[in-house]
Amino acid sequence: MKRVGVPLAAMVLCALVLWRLPVYKAYSYVESCVGNIHQLRRALDMYATDSSGRFPRRLEVIAPYLRNTTIPTCPAAGVDTYSASYSSASDPDNYTVFCNGANHERADVPPNFPRASERGWVEYGKGRFDVGRDPI
Ligand SMILES: [Zn+2]
Repeated sequence: MKRVGVPLAAMVLCALVLWRLPVYKAYSYVESCVGNIHQLRRALDMYATDSSGRFPRRLEVIAPYLRNTTIPTCPAAGVDTYSASYSSASDPDNYTVFCNGANHERADVPPNFPRASERGWVEYGKGRFDVGRDPI
């Protein structure tokens, strides 16, 4: 008698993994994007420490404080999505920066998320938070 159970189970498992692969990739892009925003937040904090507690008006100014001395690119969009979203011009004591656009919808993250502010947390959207520091 010929056994077909194991190959069939392996094929189903492979099909399941291949079917979910784009979703896993989308989630890894979100994690990388959150890492970028954490890096931007740290650079903004360093800049503010050197600038009497004030944040810059443009994000490009913090490039020397970044690991690669360039504004990172969102892996899902393939471009810098952060400079366009950065806002501090009206109030140099505060800022908001986020991934501009609908780049992470495949991972169930709404447009213009993840985001962070001077309070130090990165928000994923839909009430999910990764708390780097307690909000003030
Ligand atoms: Zn992004």
